[in-house]
Amino acid sequence: MKSDITIIGAGILGTSLAYFLSQATEKKILVLEQAPEVAYHTSRRNTGKVHAPFLYDPQKKRLFARAAALGFDMWELYAKQKGLPFKRDGVLEVSLDEQGTKRLEKYMCWGEQNGLKKDELKLLDSSEISRQEPEVKCHNAIFCTKDASVDYGRFTASLMEDAKQGGTSFLLNTRAGKIRNKKDLVEIKTNSETIETDFVINAAGGMSVDIAHEMDVAQDLTDIHFRGEYWQADRIYSNLTQVSVYSVPKHSEYPFLDPHWIVRHDGRCEVGPNAVPVFSPYGYNFAENIREFPSKIVEMLSSGAAKMLFDPQFLSLASGEFLSSVSKTVMINRVREFLPKVDPSKFHTRGTAGVRASVIDSAGKFVPDAVIEHGAKSIHILNYNSPGATGVLPFAVHVIEQLRKKGVVTIRNTRCGPWNLENILESIT
Ligand SMILES: Cc1cc2nc3c(=O)[nH]c(=O)nc-3n(C[C@H](O)[C@H](O)[C@H](O)COP(=O)(O)OP(=O)(O)OC[C@H]3O[C@@H](n4cnc5c(N)ncnc54)[C@H](O)[C@@H]3O)c2cc1C
Repeated sequence: MKSDITIIGAGILGTSLAYFLSQATEKKILVLEQAPEVAYHTSRRNTGKVHAPFLYDPQKKRLFARAAALGFDMWELYAKQKGLPFKRDGVLEVSLDEQGTKRLEKYMCWGEQNGLKKDELKLLDSSEISRQEPEVKCHNAIFCTKDASVDYGRFTASLMEDAKQGGTSFLLNTRAGKIRNKKDLVEIKTNSETIETDFVINAAGGMSVDIAHEMDVAQDLTDIHFRGEYWQADRIYSNLTQVSVYSVPKHSEYPFLDPHWIVRHDGRCEVGPNAVPVFSPYGYNFAENIREFPSKIVEMLSSGAAKMLFDPQFLSLASGEFLSSVSKTVMINRVREFLPKVDPSKFHTRGTAGVRASVIDSAGKFVPDAVIEHGAKSIHILNYNSPGATGVLPFAVHVIEQLRKKGVVTIRNTRCGPWNLENILESIT
């Protein structure tokens, strides 16, 4: 099989890229997905929030912040056109002490710098919070009205249908194995056939660092996988709060560690996610983690991640996360700090866990933003973590602009679905 551009991975990122490429260019696009469906992994195993960009440092998380700022309106319009759920419910970000309140003040500045309007972001004191959410106990809180709950799995399936109509082929159950740069093309061996392509887009989520290494790109980077677990709340808690409640991260350098009280788009409530280190992007269970342990530990020891493995603070946080994985009470108690009514004995079923792949640089530090790396005939998107789903539509346009600048594609049509690509680019760059 031969294609102009082959995208590896049909998560929400690979599928969004296919959506825009199929409408904006005349290239023959092929998407390879090892799973039987699109959005089989992280893209459906998440919290389902369209995050407002007040949590993101406009310098350190520039790409994520800019994309998230545009993502809300784009998803709202897409959902309306397709009849998909989009519940603009807002979110409460609570501080439990003075230090947390200082952090909230910083978030207010970031929110404004990232484009939120003054009336979309309010700093509330404890009496205002009691009036709005009587069960929430905290010091202060930000209430942001521009936050929504959606189903990213359904968004991805819908984008796939649109991309197919634009001429993109999706090969499901097809795993990209050995990848070789030949003189004029790239050869990809899959479990069913060999594909020849002019250009590769690596959008393989938790496998993207491995695929970049396979193509001799980003050798200085590695990743650590974290499983985010959830517990489903009993129906008695359906009206405990109006909105989802997040708490200020206890460790600002690890903002993904603190579980939240989540109200999903269909009203189901959950507690999560935590962040348990695991050895595979698909490490949902013990067997998969044991299988992948030897090779992952060797990879970590020979890269920047080794520093992390011997860092006492990281090890202590990781052991706390393990504890919250084995003990439901430990996990639920973290939310009880601001929602004292929740009782661990009323949580009977685990929710659907998802795994994030956090990229580590050669100095052993977590990379804060999404990473775009270029190969001779390839582009690689690494560290595409939260709020990746929120900003994926504008982010995909940004990646396509990089391809245009490289001469890989020519934009024939700037009108894609309900959007004009030029307007999106103007706002994201
Ligand atoms: C617990 C959790 C909660 C989150 N909550 C939110 C949220 O509320 N809001 C938000 O905006 N973001 C959230 N995120 C982040 C968001 O889910 C991710 O940024 C997004 O899903 C990443 O999409 P992706 O397409 O890059 O990756 P993925 O969804 O992982 O897709 C990559 C695909 O590549 C395929 N693949 C890999 N290797 C190969 C291969 N060799 N051959 C073929 N196919 C391959 C995989 O099977 C997979 O389907 C959350 C993440 C986690 C972990």
